[in-house]
Formats: sequence, structure tokens, C-alpha cells
Amino acid sequence: MIAFFKPNTSTFQIAEMQLHLKQIGFESYQIQKLGLCMIPNLKNPASLESFNFIESIKQIDTPYQLASLEFKKETNFSVKDVQIGTNFANIIAGPCSVESEEQIFETAAFLHKNNIKFIRGGAYKPRTSPYSFRGLGKDGLKLLAEAAKKYELRIVTELMDLSLLDEVAAYSDIIQIGSRNMANFYMLSELGKINKPILLKRGMQAKVNEWLLAADYVMSGGNEEIILCERGIRSFDPASRNVMDVAVIPLIQSLSHLPIIADPSHGTGDAFLVPTLAKASMVAGANGLMIEIHPNPSKALSDARQALSFDAFEALLADLETLKPAINKPIDATYSVAI
Ligand code: PEP
Ligand code: MN
Repeated sequence: MIAFFKPNTSTFQIAEMQLHLKQIGFESYQIQKLGLCMIPNLKNPASLESFNFIESIKQIDTPYQLASLEFKKETNFSVKDVQIGTNFANIIAGPCSVESEEQIFETAAFLHKNNIKFIRGGAYKPRTSPYSFRGLGKDGLKLLAEAAKKYELRIVTELMDLSLLDEVAAYSDIIQIGSRNMANFYMLSELGKINKPILLKRGMQAKVNEWLLAADYVMSGGNEEIILCERGIRSFDPASRNVMDVAVIPLIQSLSHLPIIADPSHGTGDAFLVPTLAKASMVAGANGLMIEIHPNPSKALSDARQALSFDAFEALLADLETLKPAINKPIDATYSVAI
């Protein structure tokens, strides 16, 4: 059960209510930024009747609460004037890893030319082998920032470890939480306390429930700016890197108010499959795409096989243009304040 407070409710009043709940055997969690208190096991609102500073009460029957469609109907926010959310679509593209000044500036110039607003690129990379290229670290973040500034792009980059939070937050516009960290609960809680949107990828083995509960971890800290990203799940079949779950897009939309984008690059692992799955995801209702591209895919230091060449990416953009009536959402709409 969620109790929503009237404006100007004091922390003293809330503490009194929490004490009462504790005395009758119920834990409660105050989420100050959202003006509410979560009382997970309370089923009968009668025990809250005497607290007249409660504005309304909601009973949500799913394990995830704040990420649920019952909690709210939609999530929309903006990142440096570009709208993101349930009513919009955004394209994020860039290399798997930031590799060099030349590579990242070439990519940024190309994105700018194609009117793309978001650049991705890992500076700290999660690699299966410790002997693989693991990113340029802070130097990579600096290169991203310089290229993004020159070409008016917003930065999406992965946070690998909580010890890097301040550094990564300083250089990014959206913090990516990768598949391997989706269940890093302590990290998720900390991300709830910051003022930066979170791109929350699906864990490679995560059930939908677990993924939405991960979003609740972030939201319960007070951060509501979350974008979910389907990136495929592991299966028994080595024929493709992952199984790209396109059906999860409308499924999530039937359960949650959070925007969901698709990453067909990791979802398939193969450049030749990426455009098809990108288009399928957009027609299935995705709020955007994250696509790995590289000026010279065969030379990429990570995920070379799935990187689209610039030509292939431009062909995908042209196809998406023809699919606009089916996509039916403004792509990378600019935020304008009504005067
Ligand atoms: C990535 O985006 O480069 C990445 C490592 O993705 P994932 O966490 O989905 O594997
Ligand atoms: Mn990658």
C-alpha cells in the first residue's frame, strides 16, 4: 500500500504515523522526494484513517510498486531540451567502447550530420575476459565529453561500479546500468539519490518482475527518470549472442509507466540482424533504440561483429523514416516551453 501525503505534511507527522505502523507490526518506507510512504504489507487502510495529512491511498498488487502502471500512467522528462518518455522515441548510437580521439570525433560528426541527439560509448567496459580491451577510463569520458560538446550531443555511458559514480555522473547526461549490474541492488539504491536519468538494461537472465523491481530500487530512492532497455536474454542456443525479446516491449508497456527502448546490437550480436530487429522493435512500440556503430566495424576493439557501419546505420534511418506512420511517436522531439 502507498500513502500519498498532502503538501506541507511535516516529517514529524510522518514519523508519528510510521511509529504507529511499527507498533501494529508494519514496516514502512518514507520516500520524501515523491511525497509518499510505502507500507508493503498493509492491506487494510483503516489503520491509517486517523492521519488526516494523508491525501490518498493506493493498493498495488504487484511486487514492484513504483514502476507499475497503477502508480502512474506515464513518465516523460527531458535531457538538455530533448524529450524522453512514454510519448516519445529517441535514438542513441555510438561505438561499444570509446577507443580513440579520431574514432569518437568521427562518430560524433556523423551522428550530428544525421540529426541524432545522443551518443553512446563505454569508457569502463564490462568484459568477459580480463585480457580484453576494457576501455580508456577517464580519458575515454573526457574524449566523449569533448566530442559531445563540439557536436551538440548528449552522452550515455555505463557506470560499472559505485566507486566511479561521481566521475561518470560528471561526464554523462544519462547513466547506463548494464546487464551485469541490473541486480546490483546497493548500486541501484544509490542511483535513486542522484539527479541524473538512468538507462536500466535488462539483466541477461532477468525476469520481467526482477527488472521492474530493479527499477523500483532506483525509484524508491526518489529518482523517477528511468529508461528501460531490452538487450536480449541468454538462451541455450549458441546460434545467436542473445535472444532479443521484442514481445517484452508491449508487455512492459502493459505493466509499467516507464519508457522502454531496444538494443538490437547486444540483443542479436550480429550486424546483419540489427536493422531488422531495430525496425521490429520500433513498430512494436519501443520508445527508441540504442545501436552500436563504428567508423570501421571490423577494427572495433569490442563487439566488432555487431557494430553497424555508418552506411548501414544511414540505411536503417531511411527505413525508419518510411515506418514513421507505424511508429507514431515523435523521434528526438525538441522540448519547447509553451509561452
Ligand atoms: C554495452 O552497451 O556496451 C553493454 C556492455 O551492454 P550490456 O550491458 O547490455 O551487455
Ligand atoms: Mn557493446
